[in-house]
Amino acid sequence: MTIKFKVIKESKKTKARLGKLYTSHGIIDTPVFMPVGTQATVKAMTPRELEDLSIQIILSNSYHLYLRPGHNLITQAGGLHKFMGWKGAILTDSGGFQIFSLGKLNKISDEGVSFNSHIDGSKHFISPEKAMEIQMALGSDIAMVFDECAPYPYGKYQVETAAQRTIQWARRCKEAHHSPNQSLFGIVQGGVFKDLRIENANKLVELNFPGYAIGGLSVGEPKSLMYEVLDYTVPCLPINKPRYLMGVGAPQSILEGVARGVDMFDCVLPTRNARNGSLFTSSGKLSITNAKYKEDFTPLDNKCKCYTCRNFTKTYLRHLYMSKEMLASILGTIHNLYFMSSLMKNIRLALSEDRLLEYKEEFLANYLD
Ligand SMILES: [Zn+2]
Repeated sequence: MTIKFKVIKESKKTKARLGKLYTSHGIIDTPVFMPVGTQATVKAMTPRELEDLSIQIILSNSYHLYLRPGHNLITQAGGLHKFMGWKGAILTDSGGFQIFSLGKLNKISDEGVSFNSHIDGSKHFISPEKAMEIQMALGSDIAMVFDECAPYPYGKYQVETAAQRTIQWARRCKEAHHSPNQSLFGIVQGGVFKDLRIENANKLVELNFPGYAIGGLSVGEPKSLMYEVLDYTVPCLPINKPRYLMGVGAPQSILEGVARGVDMFDCVLPTRNARNGSLFTSSGKLSITNAKYKEDFTPLDNKCKCYTCRNFTKTYLRHLYMSKEMLASILGTIHNLYFMSSLMKNIRLALSEDRLLEYKEEFLANYLD
């Protein structure tokens, strides 16, 4: 089946909403944070651990899976869910963002993008049609249109060209996409320019996608600008469709996004930070390799009930990180994903009791970056 979305409750004081996203791989409570499983694995986690952390949906990257092991091999394996042993839902990105940020670009034209692989330098060409072929082969629950994201800092002309091309490509993606078990989301581009964002969102909404993402943010612009863009972009999107803010995962930004009406988020931040020893706690981020934790026999976060915090001390965790043990990444990731999962649960609880603003203020007062 394709996805269905239901708004359960709308916040009175903010634009936030509580919702449910129905997929053939489970019902997802929104607002939701999606951990990133770049290469068909959320690094350092088994699918069972993700389930234990109440993760309902993950994101995987088409660009990486297309280059290695190849989307056709994944089809042969029975699709991405079966290939990676994940029973929950999967959203795949279109590969556009990675091609523009990782690949060695040769040429962008209206036809598509030619680039060299960041792995072996081999030559590739991805068009909107090819991006649909790859994602249909992967068999994710939600696919994304192929879009062009102008690199920041940018000029208005550059952003306008990319935004117009994104609309043309969205139209072609919609024509090429035919899968009864996958839903295709559109992506709004337009940088930090109000007129471009509104025009882009309106044109995209005319194409009638089952969900809409806001792309091209969190690419280096100041956070205040990102929030401004959300203030005028989100109201252009239909209220009965899910809204997804791409590449945003800092707890503060998630709270600001939710208050502005965003339902879905993804980011490598919690998992990447975990591997680098940067751990989220109720009082802010903590760098576990800091010498002050050498003889700290207390848990990472007294308020956290995750496996890591219930069983290990900061002294032990620091030791694992200092000696570059595999378990460091595992325990750190369990904690950071538990933190994100709890944050989203608390946000949903606050929304159901109509006290999101109070929760947001309380969280931000304690959480020092
Ligand atoms: Zn913990």
